[in-house]
Amino acid sequence: MIDKAPRPTDQAKTGTSSPSLLVVLAHPDDESLACGGLIAWCAATGIKVSLLCLTHGENGQTNNLDLVALSSSLKSVRRAELERAAAVLGITEVIVGNHEDGMLPWIEPELVESDILEAIKRLHPETVITFGADGLYWHPDHIAVHERATAVVASLGDDGPALYYVTLPAGAMRTVVNHAMQVWDKQNLSTPRPESILGVTNIDAFGEGAATPTLVITTRKFSVPKLKALVCHQSQLRDSALLFVSEKDAPRLLATEHYRRANVGTKEPSFLEQFR
Ligand SMILES: [Zn+2]
Repeated sequence: MIDKAPRPTDQAKTGTSSPSLLVVLAHPDDESLACGGLIAWCAATGIKVSLLCLTHGENGQTNNLDLVALSSSLKSVRRAELERAAAVLGITEVIVGNHEDGMLPWIEPELVESDILEAIKRLHPETVITFGADGLYWHPDHIAVHERATAVVASLGDDGPALYYVTLPAGAMRTVVNHAMQVWDKQNLSTPRPESILGVTNIDAFGEGAATPTLVITTRKFSVPKLKALVCHQSQLRDSALLFVSEKDAPRLLATEHYRRANVGTKEPSFLEQFR
């Protein structure tokens, strides 16, 4: 299935009338880049999607200094960008943790885990999505979130939610950068070469260490909201290849997303399996 979202009646097959999804990630923009298409698709079918973003991304690249200068801090800029992206994707609730950006591997694990456990206990998600062990591109904060979220779901045993790990398809971001370079060449621009993705310049690290996915979804219809959500993160987009992706290009460049079912949490099927 490519463009057709599951009908609301299909949700009955999951054994619950209102399944919900909790996405647990590290920084503003992770949600849009890693799983923006699936989030938008779920929200469009009436599934409640919540996001726990464990930091404000305040130590991220300030690659749009003009924008930051207009505001009190990168922290508040990125929080506002995240709220806009969440609205585009249809996320119902955004919870932002106050952990220091870049320090997640070194913060007491219990502190991060208690935030994740609290969100799971309050929201009762049927399914949780977090990073895979490769942290999308070996980002230490992402790997720490993978470890903490896995530990929390494992601690709940069979009563825990279904857990999925999101990874990026190997080579997908290289294709985006190659596309951007072609457009940039053609337009004969004097701006710097668009060789990064959201401040990351080691493009080939994206998906390099990803485990084999168990769920591959193609969200062509929802690749445009995904692109629009990505563009909300303006503070991270200076010289980014993503600025050269048009709405026409988005289904080709951004539609494929990879997920892998974890071996912790409930053994029951997840509604997520319908999205393929
Ligand atoms: Zn991140």
